[in-house]
Amino acid sequence: MTPLLSLRTLAAVLALTAALPRALAADVAPRPAYEKMLKIDVHSHIFEDVPAIHALFARINDRTINVCVPGGDGQLALMDRIAFELYAKHPQLYPVTTTFDLLTRDEPNYATRTIAALDRAFARGAVAVKIWKEVGIEIKNRDGKFILPDDPLFDPIYAHLAKVGKPLHAHLAEPIDAWLPLDKDSNHYSYYSTNPQWHLHGKPEYPSHAAIIAARDNIMKKHPTLVVVGAHLGSLEHDLDGIADRLARYPNFSIEVSARTRNLTRHPAEKVRALFQKFPDRILYGVDAGWMPHRRDTPPTTAQRQGHVTSLELRYRADWDYYAGQGETTYNNRTCKSQYLQGSEYQIYDYRKVRITEWLDR
Ligand SMILES: [Zn+2]
Repeated sequence: MTPLLSLRTLAAVLALTAALPRALAADVAPRPAYEKMLKIDVHSHIFEDVPAIHALFARINDRTINVCVPGGDGQLALMDRIAFELYAKHPQLYPVTTTFDLLTRDEPNYATRTIAALDRAFARGAVAVKIWKEVGIEIKNRDGKFILPDDPLFDPIYAHLAKVGKPLHAHLAEPIDAWLPLDKDSNHYSYYSTNPQWHLHGKPEYPSHAAIIAARDNIMKKHPTLVVVGAHLGSLEHDLDGIADRLARYPNFSIEVSARTRNLTRHPAEKVRALFQKFPDRILYGVDAGWMPHRRDTPPTTAQRQGHVTSLELRYRADWDYYAGQGETTYNNRTCKSQYLQGSEYQIYDYRKVRITEWLDR
């Protein structure tokens, strides 16, 4: 090697190393500190005023939408009361998604009464309306047939939501695993092995997964201006192409990831990343944390409350490592590749894209 060549090589190396940090800086913004970003978890069920939960949200710069559900177990009035009391005390932390009564569906003027009740909830600050999986796989009509979510019974309600601009937060159907044999390797094994009433494999009398998803899609066909947020990846957690297809077909459809980030971690990382990049403003963040002392026989202890807060923060931080981290991470004891979302792709956490956040600016 001649000295001249060596100098040329050195110059080339220097030029390259000088250019590299600039290129990296342009393409790869440093990951912001988790606490710095104002975030929103669009799916929680917090039905007690727990100062430790408020403190967590304040510390990590998060807030949540508190979801009342279901509408068919007679607890709706109690849930609404607790949720709106919490909202009145902490309006920046706990906006409310209400739901509607299903018990009186066979009585006269069901839609008119339901719309009036929803309008009262909106007047109190409710930002959205939840519909739960009981519609599709639990409640039946007078003929003994399961009522699907696109039943004409609900059309006046959906039309009203579209008119007043309130989103329908739709947990319809279940993960496909509900229709498959129990599988110990499934993300949903512990739920279906302990909640056999929702495990529909071998129960042909129930509507199929595809029938309920088609009925959900049909709501959007019938009410194209209605904003629908598909809870739990729109119950298409096994089918990223199916999610992309719906997001492309229905411009007012969004999804949220609550309780299904674990499913995303099992898909090829590049495919998940492509979905986020294609629909950055249509995928919302959530965890689906439940704190529901009103359903228990005995009140929770301080230690149990603190345990809930600790596990919630661990979940938030594990999700952050998956969505915003780089390289491999561990999620639910399995190794997976982080999404390494950057810059505008952090929108999964961005409260501004949630079309139901006028409350933040009050
Ligand atoms: Zn939930």
